[in-house]
Amino acid sequence: MKKKAVSMIVAAALLTTAVGCSGSGNAPAGGANTNASGGAAKPDAAAKNPTIGVAIYKFDDTFMTGVRNAISQAAEGKAKVDIVDSQNSQPAQNDKVDLFITKKVNALAINPVDRTAAGVIIDKAKNANIPVVFMNREPLADDMKKWDKVYYVGAKAEQSGTMEGQLIVDYFKSNPAADKNKDGVLQYVMLKGEPGHQDAELRTKFAIKAVEDAGIKVEKLAEDTAMWDRVKGQEKMAAFLASHGDKIEAVFANNDDMALGAIEALKAKGYFKDNKFIPVVGVDATAPALKALEEGTLLGTVLNDAKNQGKAAFSIANVLAQGQTPTKENTGYDITDGKYVWISYKKITKANMNDAK
Ligand code: BGC
Repeated sequence: MKKKAVSMIVAAALLTTAVGCSGSGNAPAGGANTNASGGAAKPDAAAKNPTIGVAIYKFDDTFMTGVRNAISQAAEGKAKVDIVDSQNSQPAQNDKVDLFITKKVNALAINPVDRTAAGVIIDKAKNANIPVVFMNREPLADDMKKWDKVYYVGAKAEQSGTMEGQLIVDYFKSNPAADKNKDGVLQYVMLKGEPGHQDAELRTKFAIKAVEDAGIKVEKLAEDTAMWDRVKGQEKMAAFLASHGDKIEAVFANNDDMALGAIEALKAKGYFKDNKFIPVVGVDATAPALKALEEGTLLGTVLNDAKNQGKAAFSIANVLAQGQTPTKENTGYDITDGKYVWISYKKITKANMNDAK
């Protein structure tokens, strides 16, 4: 009895400190909860070893594999993460979410197949009172407002587009010969990611805006989607080369996989040897992209921080799984507008590639 009384006093003191420090009234992870009678309540089973249901849009995606691995790593010793492959099918993902709900997971972390379908997932989660964190594919703002236990972890798409554009600007300003036909206009081709994905739409737009903002005139020779995919990137680039050949002065790709595919197609046409060069830029800073930077085929990329995106998504989901409200103090990440965690991008070239390793 005496021991219990002491632990109640300690718990009450901890709670007072927690409220005093954060001002939010949320106990930090491992802090005490109070019950209606004001005494210390035992943390529930979820708090000790929560289960988090994670659905990835498809496992066969280089960047999301990085995020997935980061989630598993962050969860070690803290929570059980059940990670499933939605195989690029929204109906399949909805079924997986239903299964997680039946299994009574303590929180969900979802990388939607179709970001406009997030509303349906939010309705399901809200009905079951299971908090949900979305990742990488940003739900529409109206859907995000449907419930207060909905969060998003991602990166600002326009920032990555702007940085990609700046990589090309830097190259053009320091290499006048890059304007091959000397017409004062940058002739480019664009490999787009999946249409409708915020990263595909905004990277495409802001990359070119950055070039124009730097005072360089542009002419789009071709644009097509290669769906974030390396093989499709190679096929589309081969088609661009067949129609425009050496008129192309720069290649923008919305991600590294497509950029690497384009580099293969360019190599087949004699580029990257005997002084035949063309600037190719991507986004992600994946391991194969860093290798291409080192080899001098890829001009630059933008670090899309898979590690921190996975870590943050886990951290938010884990705090929610324990019935708490995520804060900077209990997650380690700034939370914007009470719902969003934004992880910064970074421009990467051969010169600073160690920052991305
Ligand atoms: C990444 C792509 C990836 C896509 C998946 C983007 O942020 O840059 O590489 O395929 O997310 O949704």
